[in-house]
Amino acid sequence: DLVTGSILCVPPLSPLLRDEVGRRYDVLDLPVPDRDAFLAENVEALSEVVGIVCTNAGPVDAALVAALPRLGVIANHGVGYDNIDLDACRERGVVVSNTPDVLDAAVAETALGLLLATRRRLVEADRFVRAGRWADGEFPLTPQLSGSRVGILGLGRIGRTIADLLAAMGCVVSYHSRHEVPGTPYAYARSATELAAGVDNLVVVVPGGPATEALVDRPVLDALGPGGVLVNVARGSVVDQTALVEALEQGRLGAAGLDVLADEPHVPASLRELEQVVLLPHVGSATEETRAAMRRLTLDNLASWLDSGRLLTPVPELSS
Ligand code: NDP
Repeated sequence: DLVTGSILCVPPLSPLLRDEVGRRYDVLDLPVPDRDAFLAENVEALSEVVGIVCTNAGPVDAALVAALPRLGVIANHGVGYDNIDLDACRERGVVVSNTPDVLDAAVAETALGLLLATRRRLVEADRFVRAGRWADGEFPLTPQLSGSRVGILGLGRIGRTIADLLAAMGCVVSYHSRHEVPGTPYAYARSATELAAGVDNLVVVVPGGPATEALVDRPVLDALGPGGVLVNVARGSVVDQTALVEALEQGRLGAAGLDVLADEPHVPASLRELEQVVLLPHVGSATEETRAAMRRLTLDNLASWLDSGRLLTPVPELSS
């Protein structure tokens, strides 16, 4: 190896990933409670750490980077890396990898599932059957997903995969990103509000972080309107959750399917009480096949950096 030293595992990590890192390297596990005390009391062990393995649920902030004088690489298990302080990394020359492409299909089918569950009220219909209400009369008719208009907020790798699935179902797809994507068959909208105004369903799949904070705000939700469905598979931070709850409670928005929330894993009662909301515990990429591919890519990035100083899939902000 070009670089030797230990690897810091930032929780939560799946046991499968944590165990494989442990088989390959000397490992230090960061505790969740008393993290700062741990950083203060283990200066010597921390000075051996050359790499971090983490996921989007494990913050890597400036204080953690500062506590690791030999840190060179962060291998993030996930495509989104809004958990990592990139400025702190840039200042120290620390590079970061993520896991693009391998999770597109899994996240796209999660979005499709949420669209079907909300538009066709499938989860509500299941509750209706279980409550013994079927014998009392028919479940109400619902709008259909096929043939409806769907807006994709963020036509990137995952957004494009969702768009193609929906196009195959006869949906009319349009999108908004900061830049118009050349060569797509989908119509471009110049803003999130313009996109929402022209569709029945809005699927949010932009990165998290300050640049997209509350990008889906009250005006966007009102543009989507009383018959509209919002699906969020991006990050909770992208949607103004207070405005969302108000819009749903007041009937200004039709329904919402949410894989991600503002303060995970905490779910406000106001959201849990709404029949027209489908809630998932951030399982967008959580299939056996995809998680195996993500683990492999995370470990391959780490090994590649330790062997050659190069990452396979560096995040664009830190690779020049
Ligand atoms: P990409 O980088 O391929 O796509 C992101 C898209 O968002 C691009 O089209 C980009 O276009 C657009 N975008 C970025 N910033 C803005 C902005 N401020 N306003 C409007 N559009 C913007 O990423 P992926 O498709 O691979 O992943 C997208 C995100 O999905 C991840 O960052 C992650 O947060 C989330 N995700 C969630 C998962 C889950 O479990 N629910 C699993 C995997 C990912 P442009 O630059 O032109 O604006």
